Amino acid sequence: MTIREIKAKSILRKHKKIDSWFLSAYGMNLYRGCTHNCIYCDGRSEGYYVDGEFGEDVVVKVNAIEILNRELNPKRKRIPFKRSYMMPGGGVGDSYQPIEEKYQLTRKALKLLYGYNFPVHMLTKSTLILRDIDILKRINEKNRTIVSFSFSSVDDDISAIFEPGVPSPTERLKTLAVFKHEGIACGMFLLPVIPFITDTPELIEAAVRKASEVGIDFIIFGGMTLKAGKQKDYFFDLLKNHYPERITEYQMIYAGDKWGQASGEYYNSINLTFNRIAKKYRMPTRMPPALYKDIVSENDLVVVILEHMDYLLKLEGKKSPYGFAAYSISQLKEPLSAMKEELRKIKGVGRTTEVIIREILETGSSGYYEKMLMG
Ligand code: SF4
Repeated sequence: MTIREIKAKSILRKHKKIDSWFLSAYGMNLYRGCTHNCIYCDGRSEGYYVDGEFGEDVVVKVNAIEILNRELNPKRKRIPFKRSYMMPGGGVGDSYQPIEEKYQLTRKALKLLYGYNFPVHMLTKSTLILRDIDILKRINEKNRTIVSFSFSSVDDDISAIFEPGVPSPTERLKTLAVFKHEGIACGMFLLPVIPFITDTPELIEAAVRKASEVGIDFIIFGGMTLKAGKQKDYFFDLLKNHYPERITEYQMIYAGDKWGQASGEYYNSINLTFNRIAKKYRMPTRMPPALYKDIVSENDLVVVILEHMDYLLKLEGKKSPYGFAAYSISQLKEPLSAMKEELRKIKGVGRTTEVIIREILETGSSGYYEKMLMG
């Protein structure tokens, strides 16, 4: 393992629009690269330009906290921050990968976020997050914390093959239970499920059942991408050793899409399976509005709910006008409450969408949406 220390020029990245999975409008990478070394990680693909060998080498942004302190200081900002959860990490580096034990950049970033009054959503695969339970609890009391863990399944043996550098799913679930016990909202990112290995109805149901037993607040589900080049080659090497009988099926569904997407048919079929099981356990498949309606701006609240509705309808194989409307609203400069009489002038907003938007502005949610979400 090689550690390269660098000085970064900036840390905080503003997204073009709020991310409706994470409810975050900003990202920050304190490390580049990830020694968790999950076999399917797309950080390995050429597009990410990670220095050295992905999975072994890490770049540490040693001045990250100094820069972040400047970037987060509201007195230095001309335009106020967008209201949303802050997410240390993400991208191609887990904020709780082993190097964090030494550098503690994530812990220091959390202290800054606490001081500057931001809510925080953490996503990790590492139980090292328990070290920071003190600060995460304080953030939760002041502004709210969400702790999410990602899983490709809850099977410890399969995880040991595909996620060699992280604690087992059992350990991750135990950690989530600790956070839940402390009154902190928790999410499961069942993402990516591994085709023909962890995408079976049995394993998906096991994950949803265990999440439900722990009291997880929502599960975000998704399939795997496999980009041609380093990511695909690395994954296939492992497949040849452990699951040679699966190779033909993989070749069929990953037929060379530029973004590494599997076939639409395949994604539809796993989404339908997941949807059916999530409904059985009444598990929300997106973050429920109660966790963010008092945090984000009214326009972002509408954007997120419409995007969620778009996802939920498509999951059922239905057409949806809500994705387009959400995009148009995300581009508005004016608050929607100031345009209440002109909502229909927004591209993509028809009669039904108008009624839904009004309800969201008045109540913070939509009955139709909540019914879809909760099953
Ligand atoms: S923990 Fe996340 S970023 Fe790190 S290797 Fe695994 S999938 Fe990639």
